[in-house]
Amino acid sequence: MITPFPAIKRTHLETLQVNLGYRCNQQCVHCHVNAGSERKEMMGLSTLRQVIGYLHSSGVKKLDLTGGAPELNPHFRKIVHEVRKMNIHVIDRCNLTILEQPEQEGLAEFLADHQVEIIASLPCYLKENVDRQRGNGVFEVSTRALQRLNQLGYGKENSELMLNLVYNPLGPFLPPPQKVLENDYRRQLMEHYGIVFHRLFTLTNMPIQRFANVLISDGEFLKYMERLREAYRDANLSSVMCRTLISVDWQGYVYDCDFNQMAGLPLHLEGKSQVHLTDLMGKDLEGVPITLSDHCYGCTAGQGSSCSGALS
Ligand code: SF4
Ligand code: SF4
Repeated sequence: MITPFPAIKRTHLETLQVNLGYRCNQQCVHCHVNAGSERKEMMGLSTLRQVIGYLHSSGVKKLDLTGGAPELNPHFRKIVHEVRKMNIHVIDRCNLTILEQPEQEGLAEFLADHQVEIIASLPCYLKENVDRQRGNGVFEVSTRALQRLNQLGYGKENSELMLNLVYNPLGPFLPPPQKVLENDYRRQLMEHYGIVFHRLFTLTNMPIQRFANVLISDGEFLKYMERLREAYRDANLSSVMCRTLISVDWQGYVYDCDFNQMAGLPLHLEGKSQVHLTDLMGKDLEGVPITLSDHCYGCTAGQGSSCSGALS
């Protein structure tokens, strides 16, 4: 019998995570967004204006931009520019290869000029593992992009240009201890490519969307769910990211986190079946119950997992 995930409520809202669209220049095996080059969903200018309006009125000080590849939204640079003028910290969840796309000329320099924090996926320091998960040639382009970011000052000690890397396992298992792996990454990337970065975040693969399909076709889905449940740790519950973050989809609808967005589980408020960002103007979300599902065990398993890495 499945044990229901413990009920949790929101605390103070710190981060607005906005999905700018599902289009991506990559098509990774584990992608929980099901992103790809054929996806058409893209946040339009009027919704982006609502995002800026919400940031103005709510006082939230961190904007976390996701996709797909968020940079493929034609208004990406405009929103970053506007939000940085408001002195709000901006995070770009960057897949690195986007920085080398011909139509994205000047993107790395733009991010540096606007002091955007980069959180970049690099699921291994070995070429064959990255290419297996993210596609042939991805590792080489990714390391070239990281070297370019380093040249701009990203990832260097005492630099304000934050460059953090993201690891996720190649298969249905939990990530190794974050600090140990971070040391391995640091040594390997420096020794072979001269690359530096600030921190490594280890993330658990979520059993939703493309990764769930892979698990199902390999007959591994139930076993993986059981693994996540067995590794549940109560200590992680107080810091799961949905307590301090809301996730907004390309049409402006609001979810408790990116995973719930992809699983189609909206944030519940005042009996509404779907809540739009404009419904939240002037509302305090503290104490509002969070919509939960089985995939939540992915956040509390082992050392825990959030968009900023391990929890404990
Ligand atoms: S995991 Fe990231 S880079 Fe890979 S397809 Fe999904 S959105 Fe694109
Ligand atoms: S999956 Fe989302 S809602 Fe569930 S615990 Fe994790 S962050 Fe919270």
